[in-house]
Amino acid sequence: DCSASFRDERPKDRLLGGLLSPEFDEASCLSRYQSALYWKQSNHTPSPYLLRKLRNYESLHRRCGPNTELYNKSIEQLKSNASAGPSECNYVVWLESGGIGNRVISMVSTFLYALLNDKVFLLKLPDDFHGIFCEPFPGTSWILSSDFPIQDLDGFDISHPQSYGEMLKNNLLRNDMDPAKQSLPLYLYLYLIHDYSDFDMMFYCEEGQRLLRRFAWLFLKSNQYYVPAFFLNSEYSEELSLLFPEKATVFRHLSRYLLHPTNSVWGHITRYYQSYVANAKQRIGIQVRMFRFAPFPFERMVSQIINCSLTGNILPEIVEEESAAPTTSGTNRKAVLVVSLQSGYFEKIRNMYYEHSTTTGEVISVYQPSQEEEQHTEKQSHNVKALSEIYLLSFSDVLLTTTFSTFGYVAYGLGGVRPWLLLKPENDVEPPCRQSLSAEPCFHFGSSYDCKTRKHVDKGAVVPYVKHCEDFAWGVKIV
Ligand code: GDP
Repeated sequence: DCSASFRDERPKDRLLGGLLSPEFDEASCLSRYQSALYWKQSNHTPSPYLLRKLRNYESLHRRCGPNTELYNKSIEQLKSNASAGPSECNYVVWLESGGIGNRVISMVSTFLYALLNDKVFLLKLPDDFHGIFCEPFPGTSWILSSDFPIQDLDGFDISHPQSYGEMLKNNLLRNDMDPAKQSLPLYLYLYLIHDYSDFDMMFYCEEGQRLLRRFAWLFLKSNQYYVPAFFLNSEYSEELSLLFPEKATVFRHLSRYLLHPTNSVWGHITRYYQSYVANAKQRIGIQVRMFRFAPFPFERMVSQIINCSLTGNILPEIVEEESAAPTTSGTNRKAVLVVSLQSGYFEKIRNMYYEHSTTTGEVISVYQPSQEEEQHTEKQSHNVKALSEIYLLSFSDVLLTTTFSTFGYVAYGLGGVRPWLLLKPENDVEPPCRQSLSAEPCFHFGSSYDCKTRKHVDKGAVVPYVKHCEDFAWGVKIV
């Protein structure tokens, strides 16, 4: 029994309140039923309506998934250029874009899109993403078979002739016309990357959504958390409030349902956790991501982190001049996990607590699992470390994260921890950080177009539960 090294002796809710199907073989994917032991406890249980929806989805996927009769039939139809139109099994295939954070937020969004439309959610898995996640649906697979007839899916880009936006722009497709009166292509490609056009963004409109239900095959590429757009869509808002009576728990529930690190990744996570973090009184995670397009001086970032930790009572002050004998006790230990591509932030904080004692007598242990220096999403082993660190962060009691990073979003979204956001102030008057209103990721680049009135509106002021993000004012998030 290793429960002593977990957070507490609480009963183990291995199925996450019924979110997970009990049908899997536990040993084949240990994280599935073990992760619950590591996350901070909370009373956000999934709604019975969501649980029913997921069980129904699982049977749909089992019926229509790769290598089933219905799947093979649908593929034959695609090959033969036969008549288009929806059938019993309709698919949305996720295409990758960006690092793990971007991939995960778009996977979760696309899975919700599939749930809302009874579509089957499949992944076109890039090589660097193999062996990272377990299969989430019992008795079937979510991976598009390698003999899929459209072979150049990886090359689909912004100007693909069968992209929804392009076809709208060129008047080859009309949202406002009866789909039965249009000649529809066999499949459609949805381009939902940050640099997309107003035409592509018609995806978020009621009429766009209706048209897309006419397609048996959709291919979707995104690097956005576009879930908030569904909350602003009048056709989905009622269903969404049944699925998620607590609105700001969408990412938490869906990511915990969908994402289970493979045994190899889970080994990295649990070895590190047990070695450095498990026995601390409190776990603090700090994620620092520097973007080339938004440089911020190193020393200023360090002081942001320290000021934020002190203001939020997250870490103790140090004693500048040691006079009396230092009093520390090993049982009063806080573990600080610094996660960053660079080593500098970690070294600064570690040295600070090595060179000085704390005013509270607490011992502050500071660790960093890896220092990869550069992003290498094309390398599978690099992605294993990235995902491991996201999970380790998600087990924190308190999280500090830099702004705008989807890597950080996934960590706090999974953990359901409202992070302290390390803002980048223009002047010294502004606070060093602010605690986010929710643990939901920010939808960076949505549309301001109101599909009903055909005018541009402030999407952060339409409903009380979708607000502008604290870390990126252009974006919106569920609160
Ligand atoms: P974003 O660019 O911050 O929004 O997040 P993404 O996850 O989409 O892309 C960044 C990628 O860089 C990650 O997936 C990792 O591959 C790598 N990366 C960034 N920060 C870290 C880190 O702190 N640790 C590790 N191991 N990798 C990181």
